[in-house]
Amino acid sequence: MTAQRTLIRDGWVITVDPEIGDVPSGDILIEDGRIVAVGPDLGVTDAEVIDATDRIVIPGFIDSHRHTWQTALRNIAADWTLSQYITGVLVQLGAIYRPEDTYVGGLLGVLEALDGGITTMLDWSHALNTPDHADAALDALVESRARAVLAHGNANSIWLGPASADWSDVRRLREGRCSSEDGLVTMAMAVRGPDFGSIEAAEEDWAAARRLGLRITVHIGVGGFGSRHVSLLNDRGLLGADTTYVHCSRLDDDELAMIAATGGTASVACEVEMHMGHGYPPTGRLLAAGVRPSLSIDVCTGIGGDMFAAMRSTLSMQRAMANDEMLNAGVTPEHLEVTTRDVLEFATIQGARALGLEDRTGSITPGKDADLVLLRTDQLNMFPVNHPVASVALAANTSNVDTVLVRGEVVKRNGVLVGVDLPRLRRLADDSRDFLLSSVQAPRDGAWQPAAFAAG
Ligand SMILES: [Zn+2]
Repeated sequence: MTAQRTLIRDGWVITVDPEIGDVPSGDILIEDGRIVAVGPDLGVTDAEVIDATDRIVIPGFIDSHRHTWQTALRNIAADWTLSQYITGVLVQLGAIYRPEDTYVGGLLGVLEALDGGITTMLDWSHALNTPDHADAALDALVESRARAVLAHGNANSIWLGPASADWSDVRRLREGRCSSEDGLVTMAMAVRGPDFGSIEAAEEDWAAARRLGLRITVHIGVGGFGSRHVSLLNDRGLLGADTTYVHCSRLDDDELAMIAATGGTASVACEVEMHMGHGYPPTGRLLAAGVRPSLSIDVCTGIGGDMFAAMRSTLSMQRAMANDEMLNAGVTPEHLEVTTRDVLEFATIQGARALGLEDRTGSITPGKDADLVLLRTDQLNMFPVNHPVASVALAANTSNVDTVLVRGEVVKRNGVLVGVDLPRLRRLADDSRDFLLSSVQAPRDGAWQPAAFAAG
């Protein structure tokens, strides 16, 4: 059988692979979904051609933590603290989710991400109240055609108490639909950790994940919920290279060093951390400890869903903090420590590392799958291009996302997602939103202000 060959021709290619670097006027040859060559003028004549003239080509973005199940509740928590979010979204809404709400939230969330150039997402899915909910979450990820990790976070009810979790549904999926590591959709375990449960429950959860051979993702160092909790996990010997620590805002520097020493990865959700009371985004402190973070959106109940805003906010917040520290020491800043290239790397290859997928995606490297994004540079916010990495990290927005490929398959072409029934999706999202908000008698005009949840 002849191979399916595609040539991305003549783009400005930012590979995010330190060995290859940037390739101006670069070609990328794809064979059966995999990148086989990157370079200037590959001279290939027997492949389907995607013209990348006036395009910057980057690896697809990777969102290392997003709760897609909430997407139909978009922006309801925009003016809430984390404590109010726990009351409104977890206590009130999470309990009444139906499988169809989980499904449409997931599908809308992942398609929005794909449309904006995020080709891989870890779906932090923690209102899986029945096995039908988990199947619905998985159905949405598979249907989206994105690369995704279903991080199974159990039923909503376990999040509000220190009791042991029942992981039998994780085992069911692990032994069934998620038994393979080769598919586009794989699985991880989303655990409560000591911020949201007891240390004894954490020990059980870590042991369950490792028995099942699943990577672990955990919120930790979260606002008033977390104090010395990485240290506590370290005392129990639980830290490891299979774990991604989300937020880390209130962790002490020695705890960040413990994460580094055990090979762990981190996910910074800068906008949410700044808005909702998590503490300062720890980007610079993580870097100082030797952990290069990935980036995440977290909740579309609070903020927008694209990686461009995540890169901009991460960089501007980190620069503001570093510059302020120097000014307070009586020193005028003379250079910027964290660069646009750093933040693009956080949004791509570091996301792949956090998901355990760095052999498959995260950079434009021969041997990896072709998860690629072509950004238009012939639009008003993009030309002339004088610093291509900054064009991506600071100037671009989702309207520049022209073409998106996942494992070589074109899922967005000429600015339009391929094969998506938008009227159906909108009808399902509206129906779900109507059911959910009317069930808790919440208004849709932005006036809903839940009471704060008591931090414990
Ligand atoms: Zn989260």
